[in-house]
Amino acid sequence: GAMRNLPYFCRGEVVKGFGRGSKQLGIPTANFSEQVVESFPADIPTGIYYGWACVGNGDVHKMVLSIGWNPFYKNIKKSVETHIIHTFKEDFYGEILSIVITGYIRPEKNFDSVDALISAIQEDIEEAKRQLDLPEHLKLKEDNFFHLPEGKIVNNR
Ligand code: ADP
Ligand code: MG
Repeated sequence: GAMRNLPYFCRGEVVKGFGRGSKQLGIPTANFSEQVVESFPADIPTGIYYGWACVGNGDVHKMVLSIGWNPFYKNIKKSVETHIIHTFKEDFYGEILSIVITGYIRPEKNFDSVDALISAIQEDIEEAKRQLDLPEHLKLKEDNFFHLPEGKIVNNR
């Protein structure tokens, strides 16, 4: 199942997405490059996950992440997009995003309206916040992965 690969550590550059307007919805998602996405286990289920994220050597924040089918590649490739639960002063395209995925929320879904989509994501964010306060998830916030970038083997390299 979805949990078998977790926790999953990943680091890579933030690239331009395909402009689905996530930011306009108030939920910007930092996209990983195709190369980083290809390094994910092929059998990791699509859906909504949560965990911890850090931009460059900044602070570690809660995040929700979607692994989905990438419409830009006619849904034959996956996309991995991280919404960091933090307000940033500026965009961070080109920076290195480090994440650890610690849990799974739900499979991908289609929504009848943008409002339904937004409220689902808001529920995902609340669920992520609650789960990440539990000791088994909270402990990964302090993982050396976020502080010793050269010192640890990472899943994707
Ligand atoms: P794109 O289609 O290029 O991914 P988005 O509308 O999804 O555009 O916005 C994503 C960009 O917004 C990120 O690459 C990042 O530079 C910026 N950003 C600002 N705040 C956040 C945040 N809290 N979480 C994720 N990305 C953020
Ligand atoms: Mg995006």
